[in-house]
Amino acid sequence: MKIETKCVQSGYQPKNGEPRVVPIAQSTTYSYDSAETLGKLFDLEADGFFYTRLANPTLDAVEKKIADLEGGVGAMLTSAGQAASLIAVTNIVKSGYHVVCSSAVYGGTFNLFNKTLRDLGIDFTFVRPDATQEEINSAFNEKTRACFVESVTNPSLDVTDIELFSKIAHSHNVPLIVDNTFPTPINFRPFEWGADIVIHSTSKYMDGHAVSLGGVIVDSGNYDWSNGNFPMLTEPDETYHGVVYTDHFGNAAYIAKARVHLMRDFGAQAAPMNAFLLNIGLETLALRMERHCANAQRIAEFLENSDKIEWVNYPGLKSSKYYALAKKMMPNGTCGVISFGVKGGREKAASLMENLKLAKIVTHVADARTCVLHPASTTHRQLSDQQLVDCGVAPNMIRLSVGIENCDDIMEDFEQALKSL
Ligand SMILES: *Cc1c(COP(=O)(O)O)cnc(C)c1O
Repeated sequence: MKIETKCVQSGYQPKNGEPRVVPIAQSTTYSYDSAETLGKLFDLEADGFFYTRLANPTLDAVEKKIADLEGGVGAMLTSAGQAASLIAVTNIVKSGYHVVCSSAVYGGTFNLFNKTLRDLGIDFTFVRPDATQEEINSAFNEKTRACFVESVTNPSLDVTDIELFSKIAHSHNVPLIVDNTFPTPINFRPFEWGADIVIHSTSKYMDGHAVSLGGVIVDSGNYDWSNGNFPMLTEPDETYHGVVYTDHFGNAAYIAKARVHLMRDFGAQAAPMNAFLLNIGLETLALRMERHCANAQRIAEFLENSDKIEWVNYPGLKSSKYYALAKKMMPNGTCGVISFGVKGGREKAASLMENLKLAKIVTHVADARTCVLHPASTTHRQLSDQQLVDCGVAPNMIRLSVGIENCDDIMEDFEQALKSL
């Protein structure tokens, strides 16, 4: 099936007389006729649902769909994107070890890694997504067990060369984990460029309507865990009577361990209702991404030609330093998020925001409705202009998430807002 068809059809095949739409299995537990059958499930000797913290039929259908969209062997939904990042890393990196991470990652990811996981004993080295091969190489050491990047970064819109990063990670005997939230598998499939694990915040384009938080981890099934660096996958797990994940689950060892070990212990499970809502979003993902990208391209070009705008950052613009790389990796477009700077600094940027009518001010990005955020007067308001520049947020920067409305209406809103500046 083509990817548009997978969005609609994958993951759930009803049998005779069963609901056509994935049902919401709003149940924590499942019934069995003998204690022995249930015991086998606990020992991982049989397959089946027994407690929703580990697996649930609604989640299962959506996990299969997302695994199919990314081209992986398995997926696991989580309660939020943050939980996906946490589990993706801690599934293979223990205290005393080290991760190479792109310095241009989502702020929540940066805090999780640089503070919380550091406090738990995992070390990080951050490298620019556009660093040279030598710079990236020198970030690795003998304790490194994973490399983590974002394909298109939030909010700086850097495009990461996934082919290059995966080659370097593999040369150091570690997998590449890619946060693919912004382009989604519609525009970019990291496994086709050598990545090993993909994560998403499904709260963004995948859900697409800003109704449910969620995350997902997808396993390509391609990484060879038997190189000696990953004993947690290749040596017995005593909490399951000595199961060896790579023996028992073959090329789905990583995602199986994420579920039966870390989801069991952390309990960051997605709710069945949220999985149901996510699935409805996924059905239209291909249609929506096409419109998000077409609208964003037009708005980015319009802003670039306005004499009231100082700069525009969008990988679809020829002026972007990532234009060629984006065209190569993502020929159908990147995403609907643009950042731009208003002439006249912090104050003018704030008044442009206030002049906008259709584009609402919210902290979310990547849903159906056009929205804007001015970091300098909201998320970063405590910082001085100099401090803003130091952390990569220009005082006059606006982050714009272009929705799927008729583009003429979005354009008109910006025209009137710029005119009265
Ligand atoms: C929002 C976001 C996250 C975190 O996801 P939540 O669902 O908000 O926990 C992670 N990565 C990226 C790129 C994001 O945009």
